[in-house]
Amino acid sequence: MDDQYDVIIIGAGPAGSVTAWHASLGGAKVLLLEKDRDIGYPVRCAEGVGAAGLQSIVDPDSRWIANKIKGVDLISPHLKTIHILNEDFGFVLNRKIFDNFLAEKAAKAGAEVLTKAYAESLCFGENGRVNGVVFSHFGRRLSLRAKIVVGADGVESRVGRWAGIRTQLKMKDIETCVQYTMSNIDVKPDVCEFHFSRERSPGGYIWIFPKGDGIANVGIGISGEYARYKSPLRYLEKFVQEHFPKGSVLTTAVGGVPVSVTNRQIVKDGFMLVGDAAHQANPISGGGIVPAMVAGKLAGKVAAEAVQAGDVSQSFLEKYEKQWYRAEGRTQKIMYRLKEAVYKLTDDDLNKTADAVLSLPEEKRTMVSVFKKALFNRPTLILEALKVFKTSITEVFDPLS
Ligand SMILES: Cc1cc2nc3c(=O)[nH]c(=O)nc-3n(C[C@H](O)[C@H](O)[C@H](O)COP(=O)(O)OP(=O)(O)OC[C@H]3O[C@@H](n4cnc5c(N)ncnc54)[C@H](O)[C@@H]3O)c2cc1C
Repeated sequence: MDDQYDVIIIGAGPAGSVTAWHASLGGAKVLLLEKDRDIGYPVRCAEGVGAAGLQSIVDPDSRWIANKIKGVDLISPHLKTIHILNEDFGFVLNRKIFDNFLAEKAAKAGAEVLTKAYAESLCFGENGRVNGVVFSHFGRRLSLRAKIVVGADGVESRVGRWAGIRTQLKMKDIETCVQYTMSNIDVKPDVCEFHFSRERSPGGYIWIFPKGDGIANVGIGISGEYARYKSPLRYLEKFVQEHFPKGSVLTTAVGGVPVSVTNRQIVKDGFMLVGDAAHQANPISGGGIVPAMVAGKLAGKVAAEAVQAGDVSQSFLEKYEKQWYRAEGRTQKIMYRLKEAVYKLTDDDLNKTADAVLSLPEEKRTMVSVFKKALFNRPTLILEALKVFKTSITEVFDPLS
């Protein structure tokens, strides 16, 4: 380890590793710090990704693809199923191996990667400019300098606040999640299920993502607004009792997902935020893996360019912010408005939507038709949705991305 780096990245999730990978490819001297012993573990994720989004960053690899998904079932409160078939829908990953693979990519591109390295605070130079990181590593407290520090420390991010950026989220913009990885359950092997009901999963949904061999991630995310009245665990327990009474729980994960728009500020002099730390996940599905990688790629490239130009000022780094907005941020704003409308629907509205979609011929039952029927009284939103559907790789109607 040296005393001075071009870029130090805090957090080796998909956002941090992809930032490190692309900053290194751009010629920067990079250090990636991860607080946990293992990169990618513990897993707090249902591990679903849309195919197009994933492939925009990496080629799928059998080492970390647990399952290929060929369709989704959307299930209404009155238990009617809309099946949407798409051979290339997406994948269920093995995130432990996937996250490790991304960090390996960063290392192969030249980044130094350090685990059990817990960032404790930032260092500041002239004019309050961020210029380093203090972290602990096996009982030692180290302080290293960097031209740029990147906060990629996930949904519970503190690094942004350390840098003086407001990152608080409203309760309604945090999805509170609990998930079991279950075995010995009877699920369709290549279909992801999404159960929608205001009563059984207010402001969110219950998911079943199959991993093969009778194993699946079964979880729930509800809006933080409702979690204070009844814990998501209670909803999940009831669901599991009803659907999988003979299943066993191999792993339990709890966690939050930011379902907002991107944080108002994501760069400062010598500082950048990426991934969940920057609130870049898809506000409808809560999918944050692909957006974190898309942002990481942009941030890594811009960081390397800034180092090369000898200009790590906020105005230079805003290039990343602008590129993110063009690539995904603009779309995310529309998706946020869609979320606000869709999650207000009552169970009766959802049932009517399902009945209306099911009255269409099978080949016309698409994600677009579902949104059109659900938002039939909000025509401007439908138009916006159609626009973003055409332009984004974080497919708005692909609930996996
Ligand atoms: C239950 C659940 C299910 C989900 N399912 C899906 C899904 O199916 N598909 C999908 O796309 N998304 C899903 N998500 C969201 C997805 O997991 C996140 O959006 C994604 O992991 C964001 O990546 P990230 O790199 O920004 O953050 P993270 O993956 O959270 O990585 C942050 C990293 O920073 C490290 N870190 C934190 N603080 C420090 C520190 N002080 N020093 C050093 N290291 C630090 C952490 O240990 C962690 O490794 C789910 C989330 C939850 C909670």
